[in-house]
Amino acid sequence: MPRPKNAMEIFQRLDKSNCRDCGEKTCLAFAGAVFKGQKRIEECPKLDRATIDRFSEPNQNQASGEQDQDDVLLGLKKKITAVDLTAAAVRAGGCFSDGKLTLKVLGKDVSIDSRGNFSADIHINPWVVGPYLIYVLTGKGLPISGNWVSFRELQNGKERYPLFQKRCEEVLKNVADTYTDLFDDMVHIFNGRQVDKQFRSDISVVLYPLPKVPVMVCYWLPEDGIESSLNLFFDETANENIGVDALFTLGAGFAQMFAKLSLRHGYSTSNTLSE
Ligand code: SF4
Repeated sequence: MPRPKNAMEIFQRLDKSNCRDCGEKTCLAFAGAVFKGQKRIEECPKLDRATIDRFSEPNQNQASGEQDQDDVLLGLKKKITAVDLTAAAVRAGGCFSDGKLTLKVLGKDVSIDSRGNFSADIHINPWVVGPYLIYVLTGKGLPISGNWVSFRELQNGKERYPLFQKRCEEVLKNVADTYTDLFDDMVHIFNGRQVDKQFRSDISVVLYPLPKVPVMVCYWLPEDGIESSLNLFFDETANENIGVDALFTLGAGFAQMFAKLSLRHGYSTSNTLSE
């Protein structure tokens, strides 16, 4: 089928309940955002697979955004050529052998060589590549403090929090509400660790998207007419070890990965870190 010519084509396929689960006030606003490439069609949890596939093809705006992203990644990869990867491995909590720095990303080995080439036994996407490069290039490698802070408490986190909440926490909360295996998958597939309940949550799981960048996912079940909620917390060293922009990319990519996983219930994720 050809790409949609306008937002109305997308709108016609939506639920039209204006439920706001996608973070937009109306289905029409969501359709407009998808058409402009500001939202992904799968952020509406009420669509079937065929509709998601139909509108997942990149439009022009998305394509130009992706070109910008490619240029940024290329620039970061060039900077890697000037980095001592042996020293970077120590700082980043990884290891160096055969000319490659290897870091654990959600429990999987992802390596980079001195020319900026990535290698892994898994498929990796830009939401992993960009933060990985920033972590290696600019991270200070401070030891994890064990003190958890919210995204808002990080430097420049307050301004970016509304979007982070929509793109990451809300998406993950919707997944957690409906996909009962979410936290099991986090532990068993992505090497997460269930920890004592934090901040009076019902479930708390710590994941390591990068060795010195732990992320704690806390989920509160619905209770007494109050709907469920989900928040992410970061170690207070996150500012120095990676920075809020890369955390945003990681969080949003991470949420999309789990949203897709929940839609494809039963799909094997053992060998992928997909979008
Ligand atoms: S989540 Fe889907 S149905 Fe709900 S407002 Fe957004 S587009 Fe409409």
